[in-house]
Amino acid sequence: MGDKRYLNKAQLKAELEKCLHCASKPCMKACPVSCCPYGFIEAAKSGDMEKAARLILEANPLGQTCGLVCPDHFCMKACLRAKIDAAIRIPKVQATILEEARSQGMKIRTNMPLKGKKVAVVGAGPAGMAAVSVLRNFGYAVEIFEKENQVGGAMNLIPDFRLQYADILKDWDDIFAQEGIVLHLSTDVAEPQKLLDKGFDGVIVAIGESDYTLLGIEGEEFSIPYSEYLKNPEKYPFRGNVAVVGGGAVAVDCAVSAKQNGAEYVEMVVRRRVPDMRITVEERKTLLENQIDISSMTRVCKIEKDNKGLIVSSCKTKFVDGKLVDEEGTLIKRGYFDAVILALGSRKPSLEEGEKFLLAGDCKSGSSTVVEAVASGKDAAERLHQILD
Ligand code: SF4
Ligand code: SF4
Repeated sequence: MGDKRYLNKAQLKAELEKCLHCASKPCMKACPVSCCPYGFIEAAKSGDMEKAARLILEANPLGQTCGLVCPDHFCMKACLRAKIDAAIRIPKVQATILEEARSQGMKIRTNMPLKGKKVAVVGAGPAGMAAVSVLRNFGYAVEIFEKENQVGGAMNLIPDFRLQYADILKDWDDIFAQEGIVLHLSTDVAEPQKLLDKGFDGVIVAIGESDYTLLGIEGEEFSIPYSEYLKNPEKYPFRGNVAVVGGGAVAVDCAVSAKQNGAEYVEMVVRRRVPDMRITVEERKTLLENQIDISSMTRVCKIEKDNKGLIVSSCKTKFVDGKLVDEEGTLIKRGYFDAVILALGSRKPSLEEGEKFLLAGDCKSGSSTVVEAVASGKDAAERLHQILD
């Protein structure tokens, strides 16, 4: 396997050997989908890759995708091996097991019989895909409606160096290969509630978040929303300075993409302190490796434009009684920037659950990681099954 995102044979063996087989299974308890590293590591260690792969997919239908993008604050943070030397690189182990099993053509999914009921899932992001998988396992026929011309939803905003569309398809193709699943791409469902009148026994809506958060400052219209930028970074061949406003994982993706696509200098502007940034150890390392600068305790106050580019006015912030406020006399103007990318997150659409009409993923609980969206999709499918069964 030449892909550095996966472990080679020797590395995989070394990681598997490190497992202490902790009886309390802290790694599983820390996983949002209750995937069990204890179990799949044990199966892989005994040479049964097929069983290991099945165990992963039973808990997480997007097991390979999550193996490539899961942050280190779930299973890895709980891994007791860290008390001896370092935590087992569980996400990489998980991704490698599935890559290995799939490249060897192992049969890792069971096709359950259909039971005659039909459910609609709106949105083919991680929550929608997970819901489809769980519903199909319960025996429901499922039709899935996606407004874009491809599956994956917000996962398609993750840069290629972390996750490629082909990776998402490895998980999706396994789900979709089962009879009784129909996918409608490029199909926007304006009123998902009405699907209940069109022959569906239940509906799960997993459309993600819609509006991105704005700064509410003068000149905001000169900025680029992260969702626009990450959809197609090659469309924006910046060569000079780029400012990324925001300090989370999505902001890191924007900053690294801008740098790797040719920007000379990339700076993240963060209102809080660097330790407050909600990013993983891996993401911090990526920022350093890509020489991304961070202006912490800084707020962007205004963006102006002239014929040389963008001028960004910012001021320092400080904590007063636990609240962030602007520090007087610190306003400065800096130019020139090729671009200001806004990466402050998104907003939930206003939708409410009803009987047989359930929400899943970011449109239910706000921005989350892929694995949390999968957990939410599974949960919605299980709740709907309880209602319909
Ligand atoms: S916590 Fe770590 S060492 Fe213990 S069973 Fe889980 S993966 Fe193995
Ligand atoms: S799904 Fe993610 S969080 Fe859960 S065990 Fe696997 S890698 Fe860890």
